[in-house]
Amino acid sequence: AVRVRFCPSPTGNPHVGLVRTALFNWAFARHHQGTLVFRIEDTDAARDSEESYQQLLDSMRWLGLDWDEGPEVGGPYAPYRQSQRMEIYADVARRLKETGHAYDCYCTPEELETRRAQARAAGKPSGYDGHCRHLSEEQVAAYLAEGRPAIVRFRMPDETITFTDLVRGELTFAPENVPDFGIVRANGAPLYTLVNPVDDALMDITHVLRGEDLLSSTPRQIGLYRALIELGVATRVPEFGHLPYVMGEGNKKLSKRDPEASLNLYRERGFLPEGLLNYLSLLGWSYSADQDVFSTAEMIARFDIADVNANPARFDLKKAEAINADHIRRLEPKDFAEACRPWLRAPYAPWPPESFDEAAWQAIAPFAQTRVTVLSDITANVDFLFLDRPVEDEASWAKAMKDGAAGLLRTARDNLAAADWSSAESLKGAVLAAGETHGLKLGKAQAPVRVAVTGRTVGLPLFESLQILGRDRTLARIDAALA
Ligand code: GLU
Repeated sequence: AVRVRFCPSPTGNPHVGLVRTALFNWAFARHHQGTLVFRIEDTDAARDSEESYQQLLDSMRWLGLDWDEGPEVGGPYAPYRQSQRMEIYADVARRLKETGHAYDCYCTPEELETRRAQARAAGKPSGYDGHCRHLSEEQVAAYLAEGRPAIVRFRMPDETITFTDLVRGELTFAPENVPDFGIVRANGAPLYTLVNPVDDALMDITHVLRGEDLLSSTPRQIGLYRALIELGVATRVPEFGHLPYVMGEGNKKLSKRDPEASLNLYRERGFLPEGLLNYLSLLGWSYSADQDVFSTAEMIARFDIADVNANPARFDLKKAEAINADHIRRLEPKDFAEACRPWLRAPYAPWPPESFDEAAWQAIAPFAQTRVTVLSDITANVDFLFLDRPVEDEASWAKAMKDGAAGLLRTARDNLAAADWSSAESLKGAVLAAGETHGLKLGKAQAPVRVAVTGRTVGLPLFESLQILGRDRTLARIDAALA
């Protein structure tokens, strides 16, 4: 059975690269009716934070990426936080040393640097040179007498490592390019290089799908797996698939520090989880040649890791927005009206909740659903209904209230006062007629009315908006604009 894992470190805010990795693992697990293990790699006390941990859980829940084993749900391989598994790593490190797969390394950073520079100057590989691989007892005693700290280093087998990457095909690493590597710090803290494969082994992970940035650690991990199999800690080497880099602005790798990489940004702007997941799935994968909008269920049904492209993917905010807009259009109207609530209660001044009118919201929502790109767009589109006075947007005002606007507004006001308010067509006729009186086409005649009533030059269909606002409030706003 398929067992995959999503194993972030709780540092900083969740970013889109992380979500893409979570999504591909989740889709792979769900497609194969497998298990998604959610593991928290919090062995770096200096960088990890509880806040970030909570955000990870909250983000996964918001996205709807559920996990079968992990924090809060538990599972047969608990605990799923590495900070609670320290004895396990200490025990494995000890056994690796006992069996000769690892050794204490006393080289100081300065010594390592000097020898690295020499190797580089001689045109030789500059990784660890194996200095402490075969220390005599006397040498060890001398280092200890000096009080030198030691890290634990893994002894890479002297063999070529070949594996078939699920995305990139066969990859080969020569031994001189995969030097011995540290697995435990001098202070006893185990490193990612050890804890990640140890947990993948103990948690019986079958497939490791992760970012291309981790590709260089894969041959080392395979070396370590072989030792773990010998010790009986692992039963197999998992399969690996490395997901392509995501490029941002200017064709530079999207960094987790780029503002457009922050998951919270998409959440605050009102992306739908389904819209965002749809977009992120296209970073390295495609649904079909002629369809790029699909539901999460459709993605699961089609997802095949063999279809993931090894070439870098390009992050395109405009496309993300367009896809999200499509998902907004697909919602049931009542679900759309509900999904918008946070932006109707937004802490955005002046936005007194008492003035919120449920009936007006239900009436305007369908017009908004066909137009907004992200849910946060809703606020500026409907605030005119709930504020005592429309927002004062100087730019809109200056644009629409040119010479002659007052005359037009006066006529429009009179015509609207006499119109049939049960019909949006009648209101349109009133403004159209006012335009004719002043030699203006509908678009030009409509602009000052819209600004007087909503405060903005753009918005939802005007005549339906006026109807929902109601006759008295509409006329009062035009009067106020004329005053
Ligand atoms: N904790 C590691 C990271 O967030 C996991 C890498 C892996 O998937 O092996 O980068």
